Amino acid sequence: MFEKNNCMDRRNFLNKGLMAGLFVNGMFGFKKKSGRKSCENIPVLVDVDVLVCGGGCSGVAAALSAARHGAKVALIERWPSLGGMATNALVNGWHRSDRQKVVINGIVEESAQRAFKHDWIVQDPNYPRAHETHWFDPEGMRIVWQQMLSEAKVRVFCYLNAGEPIIENGKIKGVLVDTKTGRKSCLGKIVIDSTGDGDIAAKAGLPFEFGRTSDGLVQGMTMMYTLRGIDAKAMKTISREKRDEIMNDMIKLRDEGKFPPFNAGNTRGLLSGWGGNFVPWNMCAVAGNPLDEEELTKLTARSREQVFQYVDYWKKNVPGMQNARVDQTGFSLGIRESRRIKGLKTLDRDMVLNAVKHPDAVGHGVWMIDIHDPKGTGYTTYTDRNDRSMLKEGTSYHIPLGMALNDRIPNLAVACRAASSTHETHASIRVQAHLMALAQGVGTCAALALDSGVDMVKVDIKKLQKILRDDGVYLEDVPS
Ligand SMILES: Cc1cc2nc3c(=O)[nH]c(=O)nc-3n(C[C@H](O)[C@H](O)[C@H](O)COP(=O)(O)OP(=O)(O)OC[C@H]3O[C@@H](n4cnc5c(N)ncnc54)[C@H](O)[C@@H]3O)c2cc1C
Repeated sequence: MFEKNNCMDRRNFLNKGLMAGLFVNGMFGFKKKSGRKSCENIPVLVDVDVLVCGGGCSGVAAALSAARHGAKVALIERWPSLGGMATNALVNGWHRSDRQKVVINGIVEESAQRAFKHDWIVQDPNYPRAHETHWFDPEGMRIVWQQMLSEAKVRVFCYLNAGEPIIENGKIKGVLVDTKTGRKSCLGKIVIDSTGDGDIAAKAGLPFEFGRTSDGLVQGMTMMYTLRGIDAKAMKTISREKRDEIMNDMIKLRDEGKFPPFNAGNTRGLLSGWGGNFVPWNMCAVAGNPLDEEELTKLTARSREQVFQYVDYWKKNVPGMQNARVDQTGFSLGIRESRRIKGLKTLDRDMVLNAVKHPDAVGHGVWMIDIHDPKGTGYTTYTDRNDRSMLKEGTSYHIPLGMALNDRIPNLAVACRAASSTHETHASIRVQAHLMALAQGVGTCAALALDSGVDMVKVDIKKLQKILRDDGVYLEDVPS
């Protein structure tokens, strides 16, 4: 089948021009004239029902759910291990509770249960009343997810970057990959873009937005890191006055340009001795364009240096930290936001804060609008300001399937942080448990669509929701 087809080999025209709020690159995606070239002689590496590009938390959930419902699935991941931000950037916290009850289960709960068996996860002592419910060991979660995919017989290819999409007659056939042994194709009847950045969807021509409307900037990034050599007991005895003195000194030095930016709220937590050694810290702020590789390289290097600057200061000034060392920094800089691919439905502020319910719901979300300053000061709407936008306790919003589907390429879905939302609501849906709920819905939908011989948008939504509930997904209050 594939040998007879042509593929579109296009440049990603827009990455360099990301400085305003809205870009629509659909105009490039379907221009048959631009850069068409034959794929006739390109060997096929894998030919499956569902091809998942990207193996972060959402790619794992999408692949797993599609495979468990009978689809032949392959997942391709550019890094050496699964988990994306969750493991390779050391982002290890989950938010699953509406502060009265847990409303995100399914594959998230299953992953937690597996991690518990090995002591790779802890539950918050206030569970389920705490918004943040679990903290896991990124090393352990790599293993948990790899095992779950192996058991479901998903073919996993790490060290493989998904390149240009192959488009024919308005459908995606797969993607091109450059392997150690030459260029090959990976084919799928349905392709799920879980690259976090929406690489495949954007290159296939789906319109996307980037950044906030005022200046086109995306949320700030963070280099996560762990420490060793900390005497947490001694740190816990530091008086409040002393801690304030340290914080004020750091803030003064920062404001004078003699110290790097940092997230003050989380730094206070660190200096209280909470977490001690080996808890990844979320306070090292930088900002820029995560789609510009050269800039990203500089930011990654700079943020690593910042971590060492903090520790140098603390060793001299904080009781209990004299012997502190940097244990590890993230393999990747932590990226919160980049493209938001326009879908059939766009999650907006009203939907999130007013806990709106949708007929095409595949899961629930609880997290607030949690924006890290796009200018990289380290301020966040969650920890440092009074403007946090939170849902009422005991309420949750629906995550609609429509935010992953689109009106141009029926066999392509976006199940990751690039799914359709506004800049503000991205700051809620971007958290891992929420994305895994979305991705479980999308993966299951893909398998059901193939089984029923219809496009994903045409699946029997009630049937999909029943399957999800049977699989342990919390799905309540769905309007008929
Ligand atoms: C510093 C920081 C702190 C955060 N704090 C929290 C928190 O406390 N709790 C929480 O739940 N969430 C938190 N988040 C958000 C959350 O971690 C991410 O939004 C989420 O992990 C994104 O998951 P994803 O699967 O969409 O993308 P990613 O985790 O980015 O995964 C995408 C995967 O696709 C791969 N990939 C990308 N492009 C390609 C390609 N072309 N071909 C093949 N593979 C590709 C990547 O290597 C990666 O493995 C935080 C984020 C950051 C950065």
